[in-house]
Amino acid sequence: MPVWNSWVWAMTEWLHEGWNVIGGERCQAEACDATGVRCDYVDKRTRACRTTWCSQHWVAVAGKPYCRRHASVVAAMGADAGAVGLPDVDNRAAALVASVAAEVDARVRAVLHEVAPAGGAVLVADPVRPLPPRDRATRRWQRAWKLVDHSGMLKRVAIEVDEDDDAVVMAHVDTELIGQGVPPWIERRRRGVSVPEQVDAEQRRSFYDAIARSIELVVTDREAVPLL
Ligand SMILES: [Zn+2]
Ligand SMILES: [Zn+2]
Repeated sequence: MPVWNSWVWAMTEWLHEGWNVIGGERCQAEACDATGVRCDYVDKRTRACRTTWCSQHWVAVAGKPYCRRHASVVAAMGADAGAVGLPDVDNRAAALVASVAAEVDARVRAVLHEVAPAGGAVLVADPVRPLPPRDRATRRWQRAWKLVDHSGMLKRVAIEVDEDDDAVVMAHVDTELIGQGVPPWIERRRRGVSVPEQVDAEQRRSFYDAIARSIELVVTDREAVPLL
């Protein structure tokens, strides 16, 4: 099984443990002195994100400013956000699924199109969703892509993070777990180390590439599902 523990990801705001506003309304991006506005995120329990970002560093979704983390949650929840409410403001599992899924989205769609039988099959991409708990109190967050036709589901790809261990990203093809790993930016945060922005970006790319590549190989049957 591929273990992607060399992943590094540039989510500098994740380094700010506790999400406290630093220096009043100053943007919280590293080395940015600009004045910022609060992230617009309010979770289903009406708790707001307390981070502040300038126009260079916030991410707009539907015209509203969010921190990078919550932008990906809001974008990935889609219409479901209205139905089930937005995940807790400090829910890292949902945010991690949303971000990783967005990065591999194009390649997952492409490989599912590649294996789709001629005529009739359609690709259904779900938003990020909480899965019903099995026998535990914690929830798993998942984003899935499904290839379906009149006979049912032909292929299914999913990215998943469990609240129980919200540093581990898992990839599934059909019912099989095909890979998992702790993103190194989380390792880095734990160790309190940082790397130059360019190194970050490069390692982030290879992190996503490793996930997408694993999915592609299994979906196209070029690599057997490993026995875990
Ligand atoms: Zn800024
Ligand atoms: Zn936020």
